[in-house]
Amino acid sequence: MTKITGFEIHDVRFPTSLTGDGTDAMNTECDYSSAYITLLTDSDLVGHGMTFTIGRGNDIVCIAINEVANRLVGKDTEELFANMGKTWDFMMADPQLRWIGPEKGVIHIASGAVNNAVWDMYARSRQKPLWKLVVDFTPEELVNATAFRYISDAITKEEALAMLKEKEAGKKEREATVRDVGYPAYVTSAGWLGYTDEKVARLTQEAVAAGFNHFKMKVGADLSNDLRRGKIIRSIIDDPQYLPANMPPRDPNSAGLQGKNAGPTGAVLMVDANQVWDVPQAIEYVKGLQDIKPWFIEEPTAPDDILGHAAIRKALAPYGIGVATGEHAHNRMVFKQLLQAEAIDVVQIDSCRLAGVSEVLSVLLWLPNSAVPYVIHLSLIDYIAVSGTMERNVLEFVDHLHEHFVTPCSINKNGRYNVPNNPGEGYSIEMHKTSIAEFEWPNGSYWVGAKGGK
Ligand SMILES: [Mg+2]
Repeated sequence: MTKITGFEIHDVRFPTSLTGDGTDAMNTECDYSSAYITLLTDSDLVGHGMTFTIGRGNDIVCIAINEVANRLVGKDTEELFANMGKTWDFMMADPQLRWIGPEKGVIHIASGAVNNAVWDMYARSRQKPLWKLVVDFTPEELVNATAFRYISDAITKEEALAMLKEKEAGKKEREATVRDVGYPAYVTSAGWLGYTDEKVARLTQEAVAAGFNHFKMKVGADLSNDLRRGKIIRSIIDDPQYLPANMPPRDPNSAGLQGKNAGPTGAVLMVDANQVWDVPQAIEYVKGLQDIKPWFIEEPTAPDDILGHAAIRKALAPYGIGVATGEHAHNRMVFKQLLQAEAIDVVQIDSCRLAGVSEVLSVLLWLPNSAVPYVIHLSLIDYIAVSGTMERNVLEFVDHLHEHFVTPCSINKNGRYNVPNNPGEGYSIEMHKTSIAEFEWPNGSYWVGAKGGK
C-alpha cells in the first residue's frame, strides 16, 4: 500500500516579459509562471502537477495549492486511482474552501494543479504516458474518471458510456495512425503583439518552412497595425515559394480546411483579442479585419459573457468569420452554456484553467468534434477514445521555455505534434530541478541576480 505523505510547492517565474513573448492586447507584460506541486509518497512514486499564471499572483495560487493538497495527505494512492471522478469530487468538496470559489478563480486553478499531480502519479504508477493510461481505460473506467456533477442536462453517464462504446472498435487503429503522422498543430509564436514586423515575417517564414499551416496572430490594440501585420503574415503563408521542398500546397476545400477561410496554399490565419472589446466594438473591429480572412476571432470580449459571444457570432457569420473561446472559461458549466447558446464555433479548453484532467474529460465527453484542448495528452485522448477525429482540430504550439521540462513536447517534420512515448513521463509536467533552482521566485539564482533590475 502506498500513501501520500506530503508535497513540495514551487513558485517558478520566467522573465519572458523581457523579450515580449506572450504579449497581446490585454496582457502586455507576461512573465510565464508555474505554480508547481510535487506530491510525495512513502515509496519512490511521485506526481508532478502545475497550473499557469503570468507572474504576480503566482504566490497566491501556491498558497491555495497548499490548502487543496492537504486534503490528500494520508490517502492511499490506489484508492484515489480506483475512481478518479470520486477523487475529484473529494478534492473539490472542502466545506470551507468551497466558499472562495465555487469552482472558479484561484481556488479552482489550484485544484487543477493538484488534480493534475494525482493524474501524473497515476500514469507513472502504471508506467504509461498519461494519454495512453486514459485511452486504455474501458468506457466504464473513463466515465468513472470524469467530473460529472452539474452536466447531466447536457449528457448523462449512460449517454457518455454509449458514445464511448461506439468508439471502442477503432481505438487501436487511431492510435497507430496518430503515432505515425502526429497530431495537427498551429503556431502562435510568430504573432505576439510585442514583436517588430521584421521578427513577425522571419518567424512566419520559419513556421511555414517547418510545415505548419495554421497561424495565430494577436490583435486588438490598433486596427491599422493589425491589418499591416496580418497582411505581412498572409503574404508569406499564401505564397507557395515558402513551403518546404517536399510539401505541395494543401487543398483549401479539403475536409480539414473547409469553412476556415484557407488561402490558396491551404494556410489558415486565426486572430486573438484576449478579451479587450465590448460587444459592439468587437463586431465593428473584426469586420475591419475581413481583408486578412481570419478563420475565427478568439476571446473577443469578457470570458463570462456567454450571450455577448452569441451576439458577436451572429453578427460576424455573414462575413465568414467564426468565434472561439475557452482559455478563461473557468469550469465545465461555462462551456455547457456557450454551446447551449450557440455562442462559439471553436471550443478551446485550457488544461490549466479547468480543475485538472477529470474536468477536461467532462468537457470532451459532451463536445466531441468541436473541442481543442491545449495539451497533446488531452488531444490524443479526444482523438483516440472520444471524438475519433483530428483533422479539423489544431493544437496550439508555443515555442517558448520547453528547455525547462524533462520530457518537452515536440513537433515532427510535417509540423505536427509527436506522440509522447516515454513510459515514465506521466503527464510530461516534470520540470528540471536546475530550472526550479534558477527561476524560483523570489530567491532563485536568476531573480537574486536580477535584483535591482526588472
Ligand atoms: Mg488566446
